[in-house]
Amino acid sequence: MKKIQMVDLRTQYLHIQQKIDQAIAQVIDSSAFIKGPIVQEFEQNLAHHLQVKHVISTGNGTDALQMAFMALHLEPGDEVITTPFTFIATAEVLALLKLKPVFVDVEPDTFNINPRLIEQAITPRTKAIVPVHLFGQCADMEPILQIAQKHHLFVIEDACQAIDAVYTFSDGSQKKAGTMGTIGCTSFFPSKNLGCYGDGGAIFTNDDALATQLRGIANHGMFIRYHHDMIGVNSRLDSIQAAILNVKLPYLKQYTQARQNAATYYNQALENCTSLQTPAVAPYSTHVFHQYTLKLEPSIDRQSLIDKMKTAGIPVMIYYPIPLHLQKAFAFLNGNKGDFPVAESLCESVISLPMHTELDEEQMEYITSHLKKSL
Ligand SMILES: *Cc1c(COP(=O)(O)O)cnc(C)c1O
Repeated sequence: MKKIQMVDLRTQYLHIQQKIDQAIAQVIDSSAFIKGPIVQEFEQNLAHHLQVKHVISTGNGTDALQMAFMALHLEPGDEVITTPFTFIATAEVLALLKLKPVFVDVEPDTFNINPRLIEQAITPRTKAIVPVHLFGQCADMEPILQIAQKHHLFVIEDACQAIDAVYTFSDGSQKKAGTMGTIGCTSFFPSKNLGCYGDGGAIFTNDDALATQLRGIANHGMFIRYHHDMIGVNSRLDSIQAAILNVKLPYLKQYTQARQNAATYYNQALENCTSLQTPAVAPYSTHVFHQYTLKLEPSIDRQSLIDKMKTAGIPVMIYYPIPLHLQKAFAFLNGNKGDFPVAESLCESVISLPMHTELDEEQMEYITSHLKKSL
């Protein structure tokens, strides 16, 4: 059996090796390493794929989020509502910009921000909501967008884990993760669902003025060469990464399908386990399974389960062990244990199984049979 990894980037590469190597060689041959024509080509291809007007590529997903907030011209101390059950980057950029993260607890089944708890967190200083489409499933955007409209708030989607997930509105219309709010952000970190071979990210928006702003911010606040209208940053996708992503984009559908097939296998193999819950898929969103995350019953000793799996050569991970309001870096927000009981209980009870495009049945059989034996 092939060695089991959380993510198997090498095998995925081997299937498209010739195209990738050729694309990289072409960039080197052209020597257009920064802002080469391939970057624009990829942006256009992705915009077309996601049905969004503007794609602005960035150096990584964290920069994408930071620039999204820079473009909104918020004031220090302005409040931004988000989830405490996410990767730190979502809220880190707020703190860097002197904005105040205000956490709202998540739903126990989807792990995404609970729209029914948002309104009570809104104050006169609230300016934006940041839903995170965690693990590959869209947050419940329809009520979130309604609340945002009612209170005149921006919506910045953190779609770093959910590229190509589809949300269905109650009128039947559909939109992709990252294209529903004011601005959407994604990451092309190698292990993400559309990953490059280094760092990369992108911003999505349908707003022409914001798109212009964002392009300037990403380029030192420069709109006319060497005329700097505002303090910006330097954040761009390298031509080599764009060339790699341009090769991989046509495979995204098939990659998502492979992840969904793996999730279906896991679901079926684990369906009779009473001591764990397989991932819930909400009726309003597809799930692109950036992670396959199980919830263990309190009776299960998670650490001993992880140890047993590791001994059997199966990596498992905890995404995420500590909610953001209890992270040392956010101590200045004075969060306390008990503030967000659902997020806290998830941090104590989740485990994620290996999930990627190259899992084969032999591996998945081995993983699930060992998991069942180790419970
Ligand atoms: C990966 C990730 C980010 C940051 O992306 P980078 O490209 O690593 O900077 C932000 N938010 C979430 C939810 C992520 O998973």
